[in-house]
Amino acid sequence: MRINDDEFGEVIVKKSPLAKNIKFSISTSGRLQMSVPSYTSNFLAKRFLNTNRKMIREKLPVKDPSEQRARDYQKKVLMKKAKEYLPYRLEYYAKLYGYSYDKCRMSHANTRWGSCSSNRTISLNIGLMKLPEQLRDYVILHELAHLNHMDHSKAFWAEVASHDKNYKLHEKRLKMFNPGV
Ligand SMILES: [Zn+2]
Repeated sequence: MRINDDEFGEVIVKKSPLAKNIKFSISTSGRLQMSVPSYTSNFLAKRFLNTNRKMIREKLPVKDPSEQRARDYQKKVLMKKAKEYLPYRLEYYAKLYGYSYDKCRMSHANTRWGSCSSNRTISLNIGLMKLPEQLRDYVILHELAHLNHMDHSKAFWAEVASHDKNYKLHEKRLKMFNPGV
């Protein structure tokens, strides 16, 4: 559940059967978050928020609501771009080098650019759309190589190198960027 608050913007309300009282915290995206017992009504949550305004202002680093909205918008734009581009780029390289995967998923994890699971699903971070093309391609080739090697063994890197001879440089440059949106 979410509450739209004039001062704090979108407030996340998490209902939990384990919660005994109401607790405030900050979500990873910088929003105000409340954990409340599962029987708490919307009305009660709002009232509790109102009575704790002063404490929240003083103690919790809530991001400016306009900043939250800007991030939401940026995420939406990146997701749209990513959906229109990444699955086709993946398909292109898979065909070129003879890989077959099962599914391509879009992700927006904060810590990784891509992943490849044992059920042959490749996840690509929408943040890839912010990267230079060579780095984006490198991540795609890296994940495709994981279809044959589910580790970072010598054999894995040899396979990556056969598709991208500058892979070491790309791996290094990638660390200068942050996958989070
Ligand atoms: Zn890897």
